[in-house]
Amino acid sequence: MNRQRMAEGDLISNARLRSFLRSAAPFIAAMALLGASPARGQPGLEQRRVLLISCDGLRPDAIEIADAPVMQRLIATGSYQATGLNEMPSVTLPNHISMVTGQAVRQHGVYANSTIPGRVAAPTIFDLAGDAGFGVGFFINKGKLAYLCEEDAVDVWRLTGDVDTLAAEVVAAVGAVELDLIFVHFGEPDGAGHRHGWMSEAYLAQVSRVDSAIGRMIEALETEGLLDETVIILTADHGGHCNTHFLDIADDRFIPFIMNGPGIAAGRDLCRQVRVMDAAATVLHVLGLPTESASDGRPVSEAWVEYLQPECTAPDVTFTIICGTLPPLLVVPLAVVLPWSRRRGAKDLHSSLSRPTAGRRRPQGATLQ
Ligand SMILES: [Zn+2]
Repeated sequence: MNRQRMAEGDLISNARLRSFLRSAAPFIAAMALLGASPARGQPGLEQRRVLLISCDGLRPDAIEIADAPVMQRLIATGSYQATGLNEMPSVTLPNHISMVTGQAVRQHGVYANSTIPGRVAAPTIFDLAGDAGFGVGFFINKGKLAYLCEEDAVDVWRLTGDVDTLAAEVVAAVGAVELDLIFVHFGEPDGAGHRHGWMSEAYLAQVSRVDSAIGRMIEALETEGLLDETVIILTADHGGHCNTHFLDIADDRFIPFIMNGPGIAAGRDLCRQVRVMDAAATVLHVLGLPTESASDGRPVSEAWVEYLQPECTAPDVTFTIICGTLPPLLVVPLAVVLPWSRRRGAKDLHSSLSRPTAGRRRPQGATLQ
């Protein structure tokens, strides 16, 4: 590895402090683990870097349909749940706050999906990783997500509205700055979904575009020799139907949750319900940091090779709304299904909504490593 820090002062805030903290990071993390961290003793702690990618408005079924070889490969060679569950309201900002704090919406209290001045009060993965001395990069396509992280709180902070420009920023930073946690938010395919409809050709084309961008970021990690020590988590904030998303239905609420990287099981369907808050807890777990602040999330420990997961089959989810043929109000919302499933005593939504299938359906063209 022959990487040099970027010289620009605006890129690296409190460089001296961070340099000291970084050198002490393993010690700090070890001290944290000696405390009451639930991560102690769990597998996966030998990895110390995370790339967390959020694809705005990405429906899980789009990954199978679109020309998305990178995501398909990440699924085939990683652990996956196609029925991850987001939070209501099924919109961008509240769910991203849950994603990076590990707190449910009712806990962090932000229901609005607009540009809010200031910064979220709850501790984020960026706060916790930065405080422990880890290098943090924050890359977003939408200005309202600036609410997640202040510019001077991380080593690299970038906002640009273009998917490819943002990916290029990530690639440049990976080659220049020591980053242990990279968060990337792509504003597509949400934009195309609103303009042209979810699952439309234009929407799927944007899925493909984001897929290529992710491929370039992964290539950069590989070039720098970092891929082998990086756990990739790829998820979304919500899905969508017709030209929007806000309902309590499968189309809007199911999100993909992909984990791939060192120690992560290949070809594993995650049986327990994964929720958007679990992203934060899992990031903290990988970094070896306490997960208590992510109080509504849990590390997705069952993704690690060592975890002995009971046999389960991937659910066969039917996404419900076909625009122009079925009025949305005729669709049975999850608001009805959820309480029903709880009354049944079902362990989770994953199982209560699922019909067993013969096994995991592999994306076309995907190969196992
Ligand atoms: Zn949207």
